[in-house]
Amino acid sequence: MAAKPFSRRTFLKAAGVTLAAATGDIFAFNDWLAKAKAAEVSKIPSICGTCSAWCGMWIYVKNGRIWKATGQKQHPASKGKLCARGHAGIMWAYNKDRITHPMKRMGDNWFEPISWDDAYSEIAAKLQKVLTDYGPQTVFYSQNAKPTSRYYMQRFMHAIGAPTIHSHHSICSTARDVANKWTTGAMATADMANAKCILFLGRSYADGISPSATANLADARERGTKVIIVDPRYSSSCILGDQWVPIRPGTDLALLLAMAHVLLEENLYDPDFIEQYTVGFDEFKKTMLSYTPEWAAGITDIPAETIRTIARDLGKNRPASCIEQGYKAPNGANYVNGTQTFRMMICINALLGNYGKNGGMKFPLNPKLGELDPKQYPVPPKPKVPRCDGVGIKGEYPLCQTSQGIPHLMPKKAMEGKAKAGFIYSFNPARNSPDPKLMVDGYKKLELLVVCDIQWSETAMAASYVLPECSFVEREDLPTGIAGGKPAVTMRCQAIDRIHSQTKPFEEIVTGLAGKMGLQKYFDFSREEVATAMLKPLKLTTEDLRQKGTIVLDGKAKELSFATESGKVELYCKAFADNGYDAVPVWQPPLANAGKNSFVLIHGKQGIMSHTATANIPGLLQIAKNYNLERIWINPAKAKRLGIKDGELVEVSSPYTSKQVRVKVTERVHPDAAFLPAGYGNLSPWLKTGYGFGINPNDFCPHRVEAISGHAMMMEVVVTIRKVGE
Ligand code: SF4
Repeated sequence: MAAKPFSRRTFLKAAGVTLAAATGDIFAFNDWLAKAKAAEVSKIPSICGTCSAWCGMWIYVKNGRIWKATGQKQHPASKGKLCARGHAGIMWAYNKDRITHPMKRMGDNWFEPISWDDAYSEIAAKLQKVLTDYGPQTVFYSQNAKPTSRYYMQRFMHAIGAPTIHSHHSICSTARDVANKWTTGAMATADMANAKCILFLGRSYADGISPSATANLADARERGTKVIIVDPRYSSSCILGDQWVPIRPGTDLALLLAMAHVLLEENLYDPDFIEQYTVGFDEFKKTMLSYTPEWAAGITDIPAETIRTIARDLGKNRPASCIEQGYKAPNGANYVNGTQTFRMMICINALLGNYGKNGGMKFPLNPKLGELDPKQYPVPPKPKVPRCDGVGIKGEYPLCQTSQGIPHLMPKKAMEGKAKAGFIYSFNPARNSPDPKLMVDGYKKLELLVVCDIQWSETAMAASYVLPECSFVEREDLPTGIAGGKPAVTMRCQAIDRIHSQTKPFEEIVTGLAGKMGLQKYFDFSREEVATAMLKPLKLTTEDLRQKGTIVLDGKAKELSFATESGKVELYCKAFADNGYDAVPVWQPPLANAGKNSFVLIHGKQGIMSHTATANIPGLLQIAKNYNLERIWINPAKAKRLGIKDGELVEVSSPYTSKQVRVKVTERVHPDAAFLPAGYGNLSPWLKTGYGFGINPNDFCPHRVEAISGHAMMMEVVVTIRKVGE
């Protein structure tokens, strides 16, 4: 984006007092240090807000400033540790690029400060006009859900009669989640502590980090668990595995079909589990027997004997063996065959009979939280109009989850005139979805786009109004339940005072806007009242959580059951058949195939970045710069053919764009794949730290929607790479 989003001089004039106070405080480090040495330390429980693992953390505060953070031992995701992003993320509060004032678009790429009251009034008037002129089906809300935002914004959307609520999953795990919903009814997780053999497809605990999962992987290895990692790239997790199996990008479904063939042909499956808990075994078996390892070897580039060995390793260790459920990689939002790839992972876990067994797949227990008494606090009725993203609608996206929707489709719907107003919270689809130009152009077609964030994301820069939330260390949130072997409950507490007086916690923003819309009756309560009601069935209070942070609850494992239409694992899925999809997974090739001199562009996380959101944290970006983490990986065999040497500047081109970046030539990537990290390439110039560093895989990929679960197919693109200057 070439132009500035607003006049810096105008903004500084308007917000001068606030900024002067804040920056004076930030940079008076020596004064602070002297005081800090003598100061008492307070320790406040919080939830890390730097990625969606939501680790429990303790924030230590001296003299009103954050001193350090540690992981809560009892929290299932942190287990006493935080990753680098968690340690750096607590400093987001002090970032000089924060949005410190409500802002209004005055023209193309031009924003001016506006008072909260005027912002509420203008947004309410514009929203009311959209509702009157076009109806509530044209209004959407997209979020990277947080405990408080989920609660307040669902009420708000229902209060205006609008059903289209999104999470971020259509660019993440929606294929996994849709496959689970229709095959087993719910998400199960791998029992790493007891597994004898575990297969990872693309999922890398050491790159898409949660501290406890990475520790569990290391422990499993110590215990002698066989850990097999199938991935086009030697990920950071491979050092903890026994075997890295490089695979051609987008072909994991072929591997799984052939593995099922081996398990069935060699009687390495559990007939009792199949008999008691599954439907459609005969159709499934008939289909699988046509997919031999020799057939799959030609597609996956994995030798047939290796495929047989992997299947046997799992089959012989059943039921204490499993395929770990990742969230992206081959079974997430990346390939056209992602939903069926995930169905196959589930079907193989079912063949192993591992559901509910030690070392297999276990359904986590959820704590049951309470609600406000609806007699005292009226609940808005559920909307009656259809969604504007087609989710749940026959002929459009009938099987996609209504709890997730298709947020990246909204700009296209805006271009078609089917979406007219949107709210986006703590989510950056304009940068984290393919085709950023289409995303921004579409958002700008809306009559109203309100973005709530703490920094000038690419999505914020496309908004009509930008409302600044206070950062996660400056606010308290509603409690949230944690599902697991033992359920738990936790709450983020406020660690420091608000640094910028014109930022607000989300519930205050929604309540203020609801007031202007005449919807006070649905918000006539405090956050404390909601939190108290949520904790009541657990016989806990908010004070308990303010003291302890996370509390682990008792929970007894339930009898094994599957919440599908048949009540069983659907090896043959009737809902798929009814909607014209393959009821038993069959081979579906990826759309993108590498040629002799081209590559499928794959991407993935690095342990120090959460998409592009963290690239503006100076400490993290410095690590990336020090270690050249922005480079594109290619295999030496192809590099040699193309005359490219390690460290050289190359031009990466797809039919949609060309960009330059340095290259890492490494045996750690399959020759058909070029790997780009997903965390760089910020386009917003007001993210001054991250702007201009690296390139982003989404620039090379077209905007698409997969048919079954509605994901973005983010790795279905072929690129060419040439040395710059040639
Ligand atoms: S994994 Fe790291 S960034 Fe994510 S919540 Fe935990 S500490 Fe924070």
